This record gives sequence, structure tokens and C-alpha cells, in this order.
Amino acid sequence: MSSAHRIDTTRVGIVGAGPAGLMLSHLLSKSGIDNIVVDNRDRDAIARTHRAGILEHGSVKLLSDSGVNGRVLSEGHRHDGIDLRFGGESHRIDFLDLVGESVWLYPQNEVFIDLADARERDGGDVRFGATDTVVHDHTTRTPKIRFTESDGSPAEIRCEILVGADGSQSICRRSIPAGERSDDFIEYPFAWFGILAQAPPSAPELIYTNSEHGFALISQRSETVQRMYFQCDPAADASAWTADEIWAELQRRVDGPDGLRLQRGPIFEQMVLPFRSYVCEPMRYGNMFLAGDAGHTVPPTGAKGLNLALADVRILFEAIDSFHRTGSRALLDSYSDTALRRVWRAQSFSYWMTNILHSRQDASPFERKRALGELATVANSRYAQQHLAESYTGWPHA
Ligand SMILES: Cc1cc2nc3c(=O)[nH]c(=O)nc-3n(C[C@H](O)[C@H](O)[C@H](O)COP(=O)(O)OP(=O)(O)OC[C@H]3O[C@@H](n4cnc5c(N)ncnc54)[C@H](O)[C@@H]3O)c2cc1C
Repeated sequence: MSSAHRIDTTRVGIVGAGPAGLMLSHLLSKSGIDNIVVDNRDRDAIARTHRAGILEHGSVKLLSDSGVNGRVLSEGHRHDGIDLRFGGESHRIDFLDLVGESVWLYPQNEVFIDLADARERDGGDVRFGATDTVVHDHTTRTPKIRFTESDGSPAEIRCEILVGADGSQSICRRSIPAGERSDDFIEYPFAWFGILAQAPPSAPELIYTNSEHGFALISQRSETVQRMYFQCDPAADASAWTADEIWAELQRRVDGPDGLRLQRGPIFEQMVLPFRSYVCEPMRYGNMFLAGDAGHTVPPTGAKGLNLALADVRILFEAIDSFHRTGSRALLDSYSDTALRRVWRAQSFSYWMTNILHSRQDASPFERKRALGELATVANSRYAQQHLAESYTGWPHA
């Protein structure tokens, strides 16, 4: 790199300004630990991307207690339960009664807006719109991020700790030599067809439906915007479906003797979301640490992805903070094992929720009836419901 290139030195260099990267940056800055974040998208593009919507109580506490702002509590909607629907009937899982906890409906793009605003308010250094990001020298005392700034000038960040928070396609993860990591995953023979529609809510809480036509999720975003999904072929072409076909497909999956009718309205986004269960181990290479989707992805059925990203960050922040204050690397050394304990619990829950609610096209009558038997067990057993409620609302943060 020539001397004309800008070189910045900081303690923590973070690739990715999603919820994981920005939350880590926020926590570090509050502890007086210098950091710089680099993201290859611009701020408006990230703010317009609709993804997760459900926050565990621990995620809400992290956002509100760490001084991001109070919007999650004033504008988010507390949900004390969900409906499990099968055989055309809804069965409420009452989280508050079962485990004394709730979740919050608060869209991921609002989480991003809150975090990006907080970084700006607190003087954080976040470089949006970067290109050609690469990471180097992970195993040295000075790992580096090289990239091109949004104005076209080349830049380098030298740091002590490098964090890969760059999502499921992570260049940081892929920079770990193949022999130094394991990639464990499974793929599913279905995807989600997702819509955003301008319509009033069809229900006060989320409805997770297993029907003979496949899975559907009736979810909300606000009083006027709704998010809904139905199970589809991963090869489906989202643009080939008309609004009438989409509404008919969603409706037939929730039809039942109780006459549940979906509130329809103009659809302004429709997409096919393929997914898989994936874990990279360890979530560390030298002085580079992975957090969030860079280290693992889960199917969205258990609403765990965003929450896991924030849980990783909490553990990683404490490890970096301890290193900063005491010089001890003990918590950095145990970061991957600590984070992976929660990751595998979340993988197990997401896998279970996905499998009891979706149907494989090649499922035999036995397999289909067995899945209904499992759903009936949950609907009729307080112990089984407590397992679901505890996992969905989130285990305590480490
Ligand atoms: C449609 C959809 C619905 C979902 N629903 C849910 C849900 O209900 N509940 C839930 O908990 N989770 C859900 N998820 C998952 C959730 O969105 C992710 O788990 C979450 O975004 C992870 O946060 P992250 O910060 O790790 O990664 P990301 O949010 O992906 O952020 C990574 C950032 O890194 C940046 N980046 C990528 N590559 C580079 C590079 N080379 N250089 C610089 N920057 C880079 C990206 O621009 C991005 O801003 C959903 C996901 C999708 C797609």
C-alpha cells in the first residue's frame, strides 16, 4: 500500500455495521475503547432492508439499558405469546404465564436506525459505502482491514482486535484457512415466500401455522404494515405470483372452523427467502473474532438470528473490555466456546420449530401425522409449552 493511502490505528476494527457490528461499537465506545466500523452498503440502504422483527427480552434490555435510546420500549409492541395453529385451530402459548417473559415486535431496520443514530450522536467512526474490503494479518498483533472509502480513496485500519460482523456471506469467515475451521450445516427442501403489505393486523400476536398445504406465519410490523410468509419451493420466482394468488395461498393455509380471515391490502414487497442452519467453529482465528450471522445462521422460524447476533456481541464486548482493562486474554480465549453454547441451543430450537411446522413434499402420511402428534403434545402439555416459551423468549445472557 503506498504512503498516499490513509491509515488509521484503533483498538478494535469491525467489518459490518449490522446489529452485531454497531451494537459492539456502541458498547466499546461507552467503555472508552476506540473502534472503527466499515460497511459496504450505504446507511439508507441498510435502513430500508426489512428482515427480523422479534426481539427477545434480553435484546430489548441490552438496547435500552446500554443507552442506545428508549424507542424499542416506547414504539415496540410487547407480545406475551404466540398462536400455534394446526388442524385449522389456534392454540395460544402464553409466554408470560409460562415463563414470566415476553418478546417485543420491533423491526430490525428500526434497531439499525437506533444504533446508527446513537453512533452518530456519540461521535462513532462508521465508514458506510466501503468497497473491496479485505482482512489481513489475523494472527499477528496488528490485524488490518483494507478497503476503498465511499469517495474512492484507499484506506487501511490497523487494530489489535478484528471483528467479523459482516453477515452470512462474511469475507472475514472465508478468510480463515479451510483447515482452521469447520463448517457444519444442513439445508432444507423449502424456503419462505415473504410479503410486506399495507393492511391492518390480522391478529394481535404472531400465528405460526402448520396446514396440509404447508407452513405460514402471520406476523405484524405496525398498525398499517403487515409481514406474512408461507412455505414455498426454494426455486420459486417471487415476481411470478400475483397479489390475488399470494393472498389465496396465505388464506388457505390458515383456514379453519373458527373462520380466521386475513386482512388484505396492497403488497409492496415480495421475496423468496432460502435458509439453512450453519455454524462455523471456532468463531475465532488468531486475533479475529466472528459475531452474528458471520459465524452462524439459523432458519427464521424460531426468530433467533438477530437475537443471537446481539448475544454474541455481549459476550465479545465483555471479553474485549476485560482485555482492555486488565491485559488478560482469558475471556477472549473462551469467547468462541461461550458463544457456541448458546448458538447450538438456538440451532436446536430453530431446527425443531422448523421441522414441526413445515411439511416436506415427500413426507409420508406417517411423518405428517407424527408431526401433528408432536404439535398436539405441545398444545396439551404445560411442560412442552414451557420449553417453547423459554426458548422463544430467550435464555438469560451469559
Ligand atoms: C427476510 C429475513 C427475515 C428474518 N427474520 C428474522 C427474525 O424474525 N428474527 C431474527 O432474530 N432474525 C431474523 N432474520 C435474521 C437476521 O436478520 C440476522 O440474523 C441479523 O441480521 C444478523 O445480524 P448481523 O449484524 O450479524 O448481520 P447483518 O445484519 O447481515 O449485517 C452484516 C453487515 O455487514 C455488511 N457487510 C457484508 N459484507 C461486507 C464486506 N465485505 N465489507 C463490509 N461490510 C460488509 C453488510 O452490508 C451488513 O450491513 C431474518 C433474516 C432475513 C433475511
